[in-house]
Amino acid sequence: MAREIRTIGVLTSGGDAPGMNAAIRAVARASAYYNIKCVGFYRGYQGMIEGDHCVLNARSVRNIISTGGTILKSARSKEFMTYEGRKKAADKLSEIGVDALVLIGGDGTFRGGQTFSEEFNIPVIGVPGTIDNDIAGTNFTIGYDTALNTVISAIDKIRDTASSHNRLFFIEVMGRDAGFIALNSGVGAGAEEILIPEEDLGLDRLLESLRRSKRSGKSSSIVVVSEGDKIGKNVYELADYVTENLPNYDVRVTVLGHMQRGGSPSCFDRTLASRLCVKAVELLLDGEKNVMVGILNNEIKATSFEEGLKEEHGINKELLRISDILST
Ligand code: ATP
Repeated sequence: MAREIRTIGVLTSGGDAPGMNAAIRAVARASAYYNIKCVGFYRGYQGMIEGDHCVLNARSVRNIISTGGTILKSARSKEFMTYEGRKKAADKLSEIGVDALVLIGGDGTFRGGQTFSEEFNIPVIGVPGTIDNDIAGTNFTIGYDTALNTVISAIDKIRDTASSHNRLFFIEVMGRDAGFIALNSGVGAGAEEILIPEEDLGLDRLLESLRRSKRSGKSSSIVVVSEGDKIGKNVYELADYVTENLPNYDVRVTVLGHMQRGGSPSCFDRTLASRLCVKAVELLLDGEKNVMVGILNNEIKATSFEEGLKEEHGINKELLRISDILST
């Protein structure tokens, strides 16, 4: 029989993402709605190990739906990777009286949560909060849409200066293992080329595509590069390579960096966070455990961690073809 849940703990872990506050708010408010106590842990798993927590009632999460970052802070915890660390966390949970957890984070957070839950029999539900969108159990992760909009608006600005000076810009965006941000922002910003970790197009093709751009009379070129691109050169080396081989180009590099994580979440991310977190609380109350919640074909679905963390996370390579056609 499922144990009775009186107190739910919530934490944000791994890289921060816009919309995490909307997610915390939804967990706190849904808990209040169902007359359950809600406790927030600071700095992800590390705060749980240290028992660093606060009580979250409906009013303690006022006015945070629109703010970036996370009021609970986020962190990566080496200690939680060890059994001893997780044991300390489990002891703290029983000391504080937390019966179940909502974990807001990425794939690492889910892996840690799954192990923890299996070792100490504590129900956990994962909510995908990461700008990378690299989780199979959901079509969209919280923060991804906002990050895309941030990237698009930065590229639009760079395009203005690029076309004023007839320049070629390499723009590096986040995505060490997944090219979702590069691919979608590249298409959305009308990039001439998009380089992603999932597809090594090779340097020859890049040069050929840029030559074609020049011949067709383009006044500027934008190449969006995912930081984990497999072409074998980082964005600065790529720029040097192109300068050597296409001396007619005036090449510049912009690394967008951490600005991609910040800012007020988009309406899409706020709504997504709200929907997923209400569901997470309801699943715990229904006795569910060890699943992640996600949005699949516009429906909120629970998926086992195993399924949700499958390698195949479905980058849409068709977008590369679309980009090719449209950069003619
Ligand atoms: P992002 O996708 O934004 O990087 P993430 O959740 O994948 O977010 P990670 O740093 O991979 O970020 O994981 C967050 C934390 O989860 C780690 O710092 C660690 O404490 C815990 N964790 C990750 N993997 C495991 C694991 N296999 N076992 C136990 N704990 C883990």
